[in-house]
This record gives sequence, C-alpha cells and structure tokens, in this order.
Amino acid sequence: MDVMDDQRNLSEQLQLLHELQYSDLDMPYQGASTHSNRQSRRGDSNTNREVRLLDTIALALTTGNPGDVIAAAFDKREKLQLVLAKNGPPTPDDVAAANEFISLIGARAVSNAVDLFPFLIRRCGANIDKRIRNLHTSIRDEELRNDFALALEAYEPEADITAEFPGADWLFGKYGDATPPIATVWGDFVEQITDSTSQGLSAGDFSKSKYTQILILADALKRSRFLKTLIEDRNLLTKDRKWRAEKLKRRLDKVCQYVTGISYLIQKSKRYFPIPHHWVMDTFTGTGESVFNLCENAYDAVSRGLDRPLSPAIVDKLDKDFPSIRSNWERQQTMHTCIHAELRLILHLGPPSTIKSPIHPIGVSKRSCFCCTLWIESHNCIFGTRWMTSGSHGKPYANWALPGAACSYAIQADGRSSVDKAVLKPVSTRLTDALDWHFPGQSSDSEQEELHRQLMDLAADLADQLPW
Ligand SMILES: [Zn+2]
Repeated sequence: MDVMDDQRNLSEQLQLLHELQYSDLDMPYQGASTHSNRQSRRGDSNTNREVRLLDTIALALTTGNPGDVIAAAFDKREKLQLVLAKNGPPTPDDVAAANEFISLIGARAVSNAVDLFPFLIRRCGANIDKRIRNLHTSIRDEELRNDFALALEAYEPEADITAEFPGADWLFGKYGDATPPIATVWGDFVEQITDSTSQGLSAGDFSKSKYTQILILADALKRSRFLKTLIEDRNLLTKDRKWRAEKLKRRLDKVCQYVTGISYLIQKSKRYFPIPHHWVMDTFTGTGESVFNLCENAYDAVSRGLDRPLSPAIVDKLDKDFPSIRSNWERQQTMHTCIHAELRLILHLGPPSTIKSPIHPIGVSKRSCFCCTLWIESHNCIFGTRWMTSGSHGKPYANWALPGAACSYAIQADGRSSVDKAVLKPVSTRLTDALDWHFPGQSSDSEQEELHRQLMDLAADLADQLPW
C-alpha cells in the first residue's frame, strides 16, 4: 500500500468525522487534544515566553483568508534564526509582509502595539474583523445574557466596585461620585462592546479610536471578577453557563491578542530584531500531498466506516440527523491535500538530535488541528523530541496530508512512516466510535472479536499461572 492509498482512506475518514461534527477536545482518549496547554506551561517560563512570542509572530503574519495558516519556530542550532512556514509555499505578499513586520518590530520609532495598527489592519484586517464579529455573536447570545442576569442576582461584588474590573478604573469616570451597582456597570459595558463590535472592522470603516475602544472594553470584561467567577464555577448544574462564559472569554482573548501579544513581543524581544529569518521552501516528495476525488457517495464512506452495508434504518437516520451530508460531500469531493504549516517546520528542521531534546515550541496563527496534534505527539514519543504548539482545537481536516517519506528517518521496512501509522490508527478508531455512538449496534463486530482474541492470547500466555 503506498502513501496515496493511505491518504485517500484517511481523507475520507476525516471528512466523515468532520460531517459528524467531531472534535477531539475533552474526549476520553489517551492523549486527546487540549484546547490550550497554558496551565501546564506555567512552571516553565522560558517555554511559555517562546510560545507566546512565536504565536504572536505567526498571528501577525496571517491574513485571515480561508486556509491561510502560518507557523514559526526558532532554529537555535547555530546562529539564532526565525523560520516561517505556511500551508503551502509563501506568496510574494507573505514574504514582503514578514520582511516589513520584522523590521517594524526592530524600528526605533515603534515602541508599542498601537504603532503597528496600520500594518496589522492592512495585513490582518480580515482576521481582526472575523474575531470582532465572533465576539459580537457571542456577547449577543440570549442564553449568555440570561446567564449574566441570573448570576448577577446572586453575585456578591466587592465593596469597591472598581475592584471588580482590575486596571480599568478610568472607565468609571462617566459615573462621577455616584457608583452604580455591579449589574448596571456590567450591563453598560456589555452594551457598549455589543454596539462597538456590531460593524466588525471593515477596512473603509476603520478608525484607530474605534479599535482601541473595543480593545479597552474587551480587556475590562475578560479580566473582570464576575466573569472569572462564572468560569471557575464547579457546580455541575450550571456547566452550560460555565461553557458559554469560557467561550466568551476565549473570544475576548482573541480580540485582545493582537495588542497583548505584540506589546509582549516588543517588550521581551525588541533587541533581537530585525532577526535573521527564512521561509520553509522545501519540496517534499513521497508525501500525501495531491489532488484527488473522494468516493462519490457519502453513504459509501459511512458503510466503509461501519464495515457493513447500510440498512434502510441507517439510511433513514442519516437523512434525518445529517440532512446536508450528501450535498456537502458532493461539494467537497475534490481534495487538495497539503502538509500543515507546523509539520513543514518539523520536517524542515530535520531529524532529531541524538542528545535529549529540549522543549521546542512552534507558534501557529491558530490552534493545531486534530491530526497535527496526533502526529507531533507520536513523533515526540517515537523519536524523543519535544515539539509543542500552544494547543489544539481538536477538529479533523480532510485536506491534512500525510508527511510520508518527507520524514525519512521514520520510514520502516514496509516503506511506511511509523509516525503516520500512529495517526492512521487513532483516526480510524475515533471514526468507528463516533459512528457507533450515532448508530448504536451497527458497527462491525471486528473490534469485539479483536478484544476477545487478545484476551485468549493473554490466557494462553498465562495458562500455567491461572487458578484452574
Ligand atoms: Zn493541522
């Protein structure tokens, strides 16, 4: 079986998982993705700093156009260099933007993130706009508004209301000496940010003051004691409220990330800029990168996933539960697979050294996908490397290409990569489980038989130790 056979099967399985709205986040699998590993990085300030710097660089170079993902890492083998990679080759615009950004960070006239607003709006306007609109959608959500109202009724604020919004005292100026209750202040801030995010940030409508207003309000809300209380709530009865509050916090963080990240970059590393840098331009061969068509009918893929022909009952349930699956499948039948940016960096930076590797952070403009996370974890496990990104969104992308022979040191006697194999198996298991969850009792008995066979093998090995 060559890499393209594996790739076709894998893309079909990933597309099906995507249609089933699968996410690996919080799943009970060993090594399942986590949204952010910020907590576990806390004890390692060097790694934490490097991840934040690299995430910011990658973010500042990404346009926000569909599929545009950038990754960044430091090559410390000789002279310190910044290495950049993209899902595919960089365009002349990407190269020019990286040159401009790197020289701006080092420029004497640039002392804070506001100085970079013109660059950011020009380069990342689409992404900033998307993040502002997502925040708007989240904060307008009626369930969340209801959560706020009910929680505020029972909430016990600090005696000094300004302590509820650390670092945002001057937002209270408009109230004069008459300090209103928390519910009023919270309601005012929420209304103001809802209003100021309603138009997004379309280029023609942009003003620096409007962007600044959004950032100030977003920062005040995300650091508020009240939101923190909702997020830290451990009551199972209010877990949906906690989930909605966490989602809002993520969206507030994302809106603020351009400013907080770039301020941090200037503060911590301006002296290293303009830093030498280069793009990954390698032509990888023997990979799953290609253009091909998936099978014509989504139901054939489901049938393969269940490992049996579909009964009329299953077809009915598919039509009812996933009414768009057939049309989506036809629309997305042609696959353009590519090796994702973070894996290009690993492949470019070459085989692991023989000495124990230190943690090697990779910054990415968005969280890593399900397969990149699996591939990186398997590579670390097999070769003793310690590549890491800041977290995963846990979603499957059917265009994810197997690195195959591009990771030459992983190729085994059968011609296939040990790291790729360590992705193929869990993807297949998750699809079987996801289908079994949607269509109980329909998946093949092969897994049960396999378990039974393993048990019998074990019993044979232990025959002389068993009590009968
Ligand atoms: Zn990925």
